[in-house]
Amino acid sequence: MPQYRLVAREARPEGTRVRVGKLEIGGTEFVIAAGPCAIESEEQLSETSRAVARAGAHLLRGGAFKPRTSPYAFQGKGVEGLRMLQRAGQETGLPTVTEVMDSSSVAVVAEHADMLQVGARNMQNFDLLKTLGSAGKPVLLKRGLAATIEELLLAAEYIVYHGNPNVVLCERGIRTFETATRNTLDLGAVAVLKRATHLPVIVDPSHAAGRRDLVAPLSKAAVAAGADGLIIEVHPRPECARCDGAQSLTPADFAELVLVLARYAALESRTVSTLPPPRALVAA
Ligand code: PEP
Ligand code: MN
Repeated sequence: MPQYRLVAREARPEGTRVRVGKLEIGGTEFVIAAGPCAIESEEQLSETSRAVARAGAHLLRGGAFKPRTSPYAFQGKGVEGLRMLQRAGQETGLPTVTEVMDSSSVAVVAEHADMLQVGARNMQNFDLLKTLGSAGKPVLLKRGLAATIEELLLAAEYIVYHGNPNVVLCERGIRTFETATRNTLDLGAVAVLKRATHLPVIVDPSHAAGRRDLVAPLSKAAVAAGADGLIIEVHPRPECARCDGAQSLTPADFAELVLVLARYAALESRTVSTLPPPRALVAA
């Protein structure tokens, strides 16, 4: 038995399905999360969320608390951003996912969002992981920039051990000697994880690639590697984005990608149910 005994595949051979609002991750449905890297304004988020909902996204992403490499870079809208995200989720009917950076903000983030994201830079923030054990909301745990698969699984084990079984793992690229992409997307890890753990696994092609033209091919490959879903950055005007514009898809690119992914998912016996959007969105 591995050290990560609660999340090991043997502990639940049939696999775990994680509920996020009305959504289920880890079943036959291939789940697509989309939205801006950072929540910038009410208008930007509303425009993006309506567009991704119309295109068939299942989950709305958007960062309110941003972990930035430079202290001079845009740090996010904080609690004001959380309120915008909650409104956008209500407007589109999409459940929401957003990053929580420290244990002291778990309560406020859990109050506004349906799923709490642990960023790559925080994968081994053990205090945060323990607090998420009692957050009462599902967690999206991203792999650290230099974390092994075992370290990722042990980080997930912390959350489950501390009381929260609803964890989804995310492969988002790791740091290697390669510089052609922002990170190296480790799709081998997806195949390994699907065997090593019963937790669902999704892929973030945006942060792996760092460039928009690679998002579609990496997304298609993620389906073949056995991923349960994707998380993709979308911005209505990527050239004006305050964060990660180079890797953000336009709403039109995203809509086209969802259609292509539905065909790839079918090859893996998965569905991409592009639910009929609410009437308000069709008219918009
Ligand atoms: C993000 O999702 O915007 C993000 C900061 O991702 P990561 O933690 O994987 O770098
Ligand atoms: Mn980003």
